[in-house]
Amino acid sequence: KALTKEEVLDRAKEYNVKFIRLQFTDIFGTFKNIAVTVEELERALEGRVMFDSSVIEGFVHNKESDIYLYPDPSTFEIFPWRPRDGAVARLICDVYSPAGEPYPGCSRSALKRVLKKAADMGFHLRVGAQIEFFLFQTDSQGKPTTITHDQAGYCDLSPVDLGENARRDMVLTLEEMGFEISSSHHEKSAGQHEIFIKEDSAPAIADKIATFKFVVRTIAQRHGLHASFMPKPVSTLNGSGMHLHHSLWSNGRNMFDDPAGYMGLSRTALHYIGGILRHARSITAIANPLVNSYKRLLPSELCPVLVAWSEQNRNTMLRVPAQRGDGTRIILRSPDPTCNPYLVLAATLDAGLTGIAEGIEPPPPRPENDLDPRALRKLVRKEGLPRNLGEALRHLAEDRVIRRAVGECISSRFLESKELEWERFQAQVHQWELDEYLINY
Ligand code: GLU
Ligand code: MG
Repeated sequence: KALTKEEVLDRAKEYNVKFIRLQFTDIFGTFKNIAVTVEELERALEGRVMFDSSVIEGFVHNKESDIYLYPDPSTFEIFPWRPRDGAVARLICDVYSPAGEPYPGCSRSALKRVLKKAADMGFHLRVGAQIEFFLFQTDSQGKPTTITHDQAGYCDLSPVDLGENARRDMVLTLEEMGFEISSSHHEKSAGQHEIFIKEDSAPAIADKIATFKFVVRTIAQRHGLHASFMPKPVSTLNGSGMHLHHSLWSNGRNMFDDPAGYMGLSRTALHYIGGILRHARSITAIANPLVNSYKRLLPSELCPVLVAWSEQNRNTMLRVPAQRGDGTRIILRSPDPTCNPYLVLAATLDAGLTGIAEGIEPPPPRPENDLDPRALRKLVRKEGLPRNLGEALRHLAEDRVIRRAVGECISSRFLESKELEWERFQAQVHQWELDEYLINY
């Protein structure tokens, strides 16, 4: 079904496309784009569109700051919300250096490198993504607020708010753009929604996650709403996560399934879990990249706080749902939707493959929520995920495996920039501190 270059050119003519956006992701997961007119499309498809890397934060700025975009023809899509006449289409690109090699700051290429390693071991990764987000009202000047005007709760049926209509429109638009959506529902908090993107192979799924955020924002805007993927926009409400369902396949077989294995899981699955858990704390820096990400990861919520796995316990980083056979999968619950999907998949897949290659045994699974809050806090002290960005970055700085997985260039740029972000936050005195301390001390 993937289009060739010639088919992209034909399609563009047939649909009267006027502009093509060449999209790529920076190391922080922001979708960037450069627009070219249809007259430039042929040149663009040959990878001859160049731009100056110094405008992109986190990209290397050396003498040769020119870099090239290599569009992947299979990602050609027309934006359904734009006019038919003079339509707008997009192509997702890899970033290349002038020497014709993948640019070291290109996260899509980093993921491809780890996928190649998986292929060499005989594995093919498939991933599904449940993405949560809030729909907020905008104020009279069109600026986003954190007001939801929505009284709906988990899976409510009636269209009690504007959000329901917006979400329906999002799902229809995504489907027009070739997405398969497993389900969508109202999440637990007021104004919070979830859309489940059906599993696909990588990098297609990472492309879909990147596209998803931009489509959801665009459609929300057309409904007069602001879609926010911020992990914890309102302190009194549940945060938003992005749960990634992993499975490894070989010759059409799900390699995590083994009816004779422990809990019906193969050695491959158990070692994959073992590998991810060993690198859990450094993966967190990539999966939870904002200061705000850590306000979601609290023991009191349905959120992962433990470097552990389980069938039922929602406080563990990994969950293996009951389904077996082709549906056998490992859900990574910790990422939030602000992470770079290419990097989080590169990091977790590499950790999992390391687990398989080294035969890393996971600890026993945790039973269903068995702990009272006090006992859980005590366990978090010993076996918890990092509690803030600074802590996560320290783990990443020391983890050779994960740094190699995303590439030395990306990891050092990421660390430098994120350490500054953490310091800027730490340098602030927050209102909470004044309320809590000013009178007493
Ligand atoms: N909102 C929760 C999170 O941040 C997940 C709730 C659920 O299990 O769907 O991960
Ligand atoms: Mg959910």
